Amino acid sequence: MGRLWRGEFWRLVTLVAAGALFGWPFSAVVAGITVGLSLCLAFHLRQLHALYQWLTLRPQEEPPAASGLWGELFDRLYRYQKRQALTQQRLRATLQRIQESSEAMRDSVVMLDRHGDLEWWNSAAERMLGLKPQLDRGQHITNLLRDPRFVDYFHGRDYREPLTLPSPIDERLILQFQITLYGDDERLVMARDITRLHRLEQMRRDFVANVSHELRTPLTVLAGYLETYGDMADQLPPRLGRGLVQMKAQTERMQNLVNDLLLLSRLEIDQGGRDDAPLAMDELLHAVQSDAVALSDGRQSITVEVEESRALLGSEQEIRSALSNLTFNAVRYAGEGRHIVLRWRPHGAGACLEVADDGEGIDPVHLPRLTERFYRVDKGRSTATGGTGLGLAIVKHVLLRHDARLEIDSLPGRGATFRCLFPAERLRDTAAERAQRA
Ligand code: ADP
Repeated sequence: MGRLWRGEFWRLVTLVAAGALFGWPFSAVVAGITVGLSLCLAFHLRQLHALYQWLTLRPQEEPPAASGLWGELFDRLYRYQKRQALTQQRLRATLQRIQESSEAMRDSVVMLDRHGDLEWWNSAAERMLGLKPQLDRGQHITNLLRDPRFVDYFHGRDYREPLTLPSPIDERLILQFQITLYGDDERLVMARDITRLHRLEQMRRDFVANVSHELRTPLTVLAGYLETYGDMADQLPPRLGRGLVQMKAQTERMQNLVNDLLLLSRLEIDQGGRDDAPLAMDELLHAVQSDAVALSDGRQSITVEVEESRALLGSEQEIRSALSNLTFNAVRYAGEGRHIVLRWRPHGAGACLEVADDGEGIDPVHLPRLTERFYRVDKGRSTATGGTGLGLAIVKHVLLRHDARLEIDSLPGRGATFRCLFPAERLRDTAAERAQRA
């Protein structure tokens, strides 16, 4: 490059010197230098014009012929342009391959720009979501998928969990939506047809609910007779009496199991939210405390701490059932002489319903699976204390229906703390607070 610059420099010097020499005999050296400089300028202007013409009118063609620095510049630009064209071609081919493979997919794939407007989609999206080729391009996704649950999910920007909804063009088609953010805030919406899976899941739920329901009546009859015979135990031979006691305990266990299964089915099937009301947590905690005191029968001390004044918007029956399950578990598993606390306290902008004990605790390896149905740390102990293995599964479902989540903290020998974390939207100021503000 240095050589080229030197060439240009000497071109300038030669023209200026030639101009000066030419003007010398006529005593017009300055005029001669000016002519030399003008010639140099004219040369560069001509090359600039050639460059402009080439780039604007025929960029695909070979560059204009030129020597020196300009020739090098043209060559470099030409090579750069060729490289760019090649990269673009490769990108186009990759994009086409991606579009072809997405086209072959059975799932819907919709690409959105950073505003949420439709850019591209495959034919599955036309079948499942009713998108029309060309016509819907550039439309905002929420103009086409108008279900409020999808609109909330889309704007919520929390895409960790998928969303299940019926198809907007066929109610019988159940779709699972998953959104992925990529690039410059662009989004990829995928929808999978899970109709079969949904139907199977529904059949499973209905089956469990029906069997539990059918078992209820015979169990009530059995329990009734056993109760009557139990009252006459002193008139029966001792062996029969012992059998009766066991039969009664097992019938009770089955009744508890059936009741828990029915409750779980109801929690899964019902949409929820219908009997939501602001709950006075103070009263609720004290009510559960007195039930727990009766169950504990003096083996533990049980206290209530209320540090949050706002009420919880929820179903009294369900929240009470969740709190009772956590509290009764603490009574059954913490061990004798322990202390159990039921707490309602602020947590960030939301609130926390907490049951903590200083009992035997749980090994952390069990924590991730604790809310699964029938998962027990110690099966013998759970059965002996009347556990159905469904308590924490019920708690998890109740919390899901109240936009809350369960956090469990425990170490062996250091007690266990179960926290139900409710968002601020689930809290309501009490009438007294509203009056105080007004
Ligand atoms: P179960 O009917 O067996 O109590 P749960 O779903 O209510 O079923 O609880 C699952 C398991 O979690 C229990 O079997 C028990 O081992 C453990 N667990 C629950 N709460 C506590 C607690 N406060 N302390 C120690 N272990 C607990």
